[in-house]
Amino acid sequence: MKYLISACLVGKKCNYKGKSNVVKKIKEIYKKGEAILFCPEILGGLKTPRESAEIVECDGKVVKLSSGKDVTEAFVIGAGKALKIAKENRIEIAILKAKSPSCGCGKIYDGTFSKNLIDGDGITTSLLKLNGIKVITEEEFLKKTKTKK
Ligand code: SF4
Repeated sequence: MKYLISACLVGKKCNYKGKSNVVKKIKEIYKKGEAILFCPEILGGLKTPRESAEIVECDGKVVKLSSGKDVTEAFVIGAGKALKIAKENRIEIAILKAKSPSCGCGKIYDGTFSKNLIDGDGITTSLLKLNGIKVITEEEFLKKTKTKK
């Protein structure tokens, strides 16, 4: 089984701060050769570091930077490229970074840049799910692996 994994979870410094969000257990999967890494925001053409972004209109899926600039197109391009990678590698499960406007699953920030969470999925997560790929967050992955032990 190959997983699609948010690159920041295994140490790539691709988040908006130019930092990573390493999760040791997820990095181990990658080291075993069981995962493909990706960062949809970089794939969409955004630079690191960058301003934080949030989905400001959930229904229409509009993404803006904290300065107000509309970056929806970059997020949509990144999601499309992520789906292509997933399909080419026959990925069935993606482990993605919680709460991100690209990778978040189940809960995302509400678009007010005030750390409030609402129900919803990031742009890439929505597209992967629509195409039958199961998405879990690193938090869910850690809970599942804990229960198994
Ligand atoms: Fe990590 Fe996804 Fe954000 Fe890239 S877009 S930094 S992979 S959470």
